[in-house]
Amino acid sequence: MKVDFFRHNLDDIDIQNVNRALRDNILTTGKTTEEFEMKLAKYLTVNHVVGVMSCTHALELGLAGVGVGPGDEVITTPMTYIATTDAIEYVGARPVFVDVEEATGNINADLIERAITSKTKAILPVHLYGQMCDMGRIRAIADKYHLKVIEDAAHCLEGERDGVRPGQLGDVACFSFYATKSITCGEGGALAVNSDGLAEWCKKARGHGLSKDMHGRFGNAYKHYEKDFLGFKCNMSNIQAALLIGQLGRVEEMRERREEIAKIYNDSFEKNKKVRVPAVLSGTNHGRHLYAIWVDPMSRDKILEYLFSKDIGIVVTYQPVHLMKYYREKYSFRDGDYPVAEKIGAATISLPFYAKLTNDEVSYVARCVLEAINL
Ligand SMILES: *Cc1c(COP(=O)(O)O)cnc(C)c1O
Repeated sequence: MKVDFFRHNLDDIDIQNVNRALRDNILTTGKTTEEFEMKLAKYLTVNHVVGVMSCTHALELGLAGVGVGPGDEVITTPMTYIATTDAIEYVGARPVFVDVEEATGNINADLIERAITSKTKAILPVHLYGQMCDMGRIRAIADKYHLKVIEDAAHCLEGERDGVRPGQLGDVACFSFYATKSITCGEGGALAVNSDGLAEWCKKARGHGLSKDMHGRFGNAYKHYEKDFLGFKCNMSNIQAALLIGQLGRVEEMRERREEIAKIYNDSFEKNKKVRVPAVLSGTNHGRHLYAIWVDPMSRDKILEYLFSKDIGIVVTYQPVHLMKYYREKYSFRDGDYPVAEKIGAATISLPFYAKLTNDEVSYVARCVLEAINL
């Protein structure tokens, strides 16, 4: 049996939607993009959504939009994908890490205050694996020190904690529609924003900072456009939006199926002391984006090899960012700087986890994990 790490969930309706978008004369940002943005804003219960080319762009735009720039510091987690910290670098700011919680791998809110300096401008939490960080706490700290909050919600379109969802307490929340995310258009992203002014800025900023958007420039009356500031070029196209609209309608159904799969995995590993799984905290509706197991670091790579030899797709999410060559050298990080993140990074394996997995496939993966553990 071969079990891919990820399989997307596109169906005929999605392909028909793209067909329709391709017959329209405007392939760039237009009515279909607007429709997707409105539907996503409604789903998230936020005021505005701005569609872009990737979550990396969303993070960069979000940081720039709230005024983070050269010389500023942004507090974030080392247990994330490098896009999070790369976005901080792109705007000329410096990532300042704080370690993560043992139980969840999420940023440890207890450690945030002591990392704040006169240069700190923002906090950038990442809702790891789909479980939300403690946004109530993080918002309170941000308000006390007049900081902005940018959420990396690439794993957490569907998550909720204590009645709060991504984008509701942050100034900005950023989403990804990359090839392996829960809804996908290959490459794509979005920002959720509540402030009218910031949403308008983001809409301009995704198209060079011009005063008229792509679609508006093709309207029925000619208008000269003005350039207000130096923006980016990362606007979402109608083709991307067309691919996403149908999937957004099925997002809860797909999450429920992943919840069932998580239960099968959990039940399989429950009795084995050599396999730990991240805790799901009470009050949390887990987005269930990734299913990670934490094993003995001494045998992790051996287990990876065994699963690989059994044709099972596996990924390490994540090796901690501060130890990646670029960051290690630029900021002189050393082994041991963020011990909890390093421990998780050395122990973690992410298993195949998507709605299209069959129960047989899930059982096969779980069985192979247990075989590998006992080698
Ligand atoms: C996928 C991912 C990103 C980047 O998303 P892109 O759309 O590929 O730019 C950022 N942060 C996290 C945590 C991710 O998993």
